[in-house]
Amino acid sequence: MTVRTRFAPSPTGYLHVGGGRTALFNWLYARRHGGKFILRIEDTDEKRNTEEAHQVIYDGLKWLGLDWDEGPDKGGEFGPYRQSERSDIYAKYLARLELGGHVYEDGGAIRFRSPRKSVVVEDMVCGRIEFDMSNPATHPDMTIRRPDGSWIFHFVNVVDDIEMKLTHVIRGEDHLSNTPKHVELYNALGEKPPVFGHIPLILNHEGKKLSKRDGGSSITYFMEHGYAPEAVVNYLCLLGWSPGDNREKLTMEELLAVFDIDKINRRNAIFDLDKCFWLNGQHILSMSFERFVELAKPFVEKAAIAYGTNESLLAALAIVKPKVKHLSDVPDWIGFLFTEDFSFDSEAVEKSLNKAGAAGRLQALRTTLVNLSEWTHASLEAALKETATALGVKTGELVHPARVAVSGRSVGPGLYEMFVVLGKDRTLARFERASAKAAA
Ligand code: GLU
Repeated sequence: MTVRTRFAPSPTGYLHVGGGRTALFNWLYARRHGGKFILRIEDTDEKRNTEEAHQVIYDGLKWLGLDWDEGPDKGGEFGPYRQSERSDIYAKYLARLELGGHVYEDGGAIRFRSPRKSVVVEDMVCGRIEFDMSNPATHPDMTIRRPDGSWIFHFVNVVDDIEMKLTHVIRGEDHLSNTPKHVELYNALGEKPPVFGHIPLILNHEGKKLSKRDGGSSITYFMEHGYAPEAVVNYLCLLGWSPGDNREKLTMEELLAVFDIDKINRRNAIFDLDKCFWLNGQHILSMSFERFVELAKPFVEKAAIAYGTNESLLAALAIVKPKVKHLSDVPDWIGFLFTEDFSFDSEAVEKSLNKAGAAGRLQALRTTLVNLSEWTHASLEAALKETATALGVKTGELVHPARVAVSGRSVGPGLYEMFVVLGKDRTLARFERASAKAAA
């Protein structure tokens, strides 16, 4: 039996991290088991059903690298993949329920008559759960069609899972209480339910369900704030799952090799943006240079940095890769390399250039560097150390003002790397200008 999983979001105009994680778990499960991953849009609620809202879902999934085998834009054997286009199919299934005497009319609405038996769900994550459906006060007969003819979620969700031949339904724990109702529908239709897996909720630091108002609760946030997709995928995976060893940083390949539903824990996950930020730095550090360029370049282009040739851009990116934590910081981190009109951070100037003797030390360093025949990391480092020894000062007394002189700030790429990228003439000219304003 081929594994078939799906992601079935409603187009709310917003892809919640919980949705991203559900999509990821379904995708990983399908990919790991040689199955298919299907995207179905649950858009029976017409009010919020706009093209832009659909696009947010496609863009978010694509950015995360979760490709689907069947879906609205792709087609497939069991389409259409938007519920708003499947009304005929739902009508057929309703007829089947009517034939079996499972539904009745109630004020223009159609309701499903619960058999009022207990329902057992063998959940991949939560284990065996028995639901007592006997009390109509707590478990009223569910509506499946409203008086205006529109369909209710439970019914169309089940019909589509049957029609699309889904084998596994992995979704948020908020749907666990709906599951016995869904199982009743499967039974009434004479169909075998899929295997369910309900994954723990994602809570904010206050222990409440992570909502739109919480920072970083949408995938778009990560796309815009300079996160690498692989870091976000890694982070989403750790929300309720762990590889069972002490690893925290995992690549997509590693996840594909080890992900399985049985390691999902039942405890609610606490959303921690700091952790995601940390993982982002780790992924940026370890990713290939080519990948870094691919991810950083759009931010550079958007900031309209006049970097000249591609070669000079690559040289600049190479020296910031070990340091940046957000891809969106890259323009700021490389901007000063491409213009003489860069700004000076007043605090950095105060601390390093306005320190007594800074001008003289910069001049002394400049004099050593003017005579340097080789302009490499090693020769520059040796020259700076020699100058410090000759002046009888600590290397920091030269490093800090030199850093501010060439970059205008006290943090940034490695000092000698900056010298090399700027080249001799521009480095020395910056020394000249800075020592003119530095304290004597
Ligand atoms: N449209 C539902 C949701 O977004 C899907 C539930 C399910 O996965 O079955 O919550």
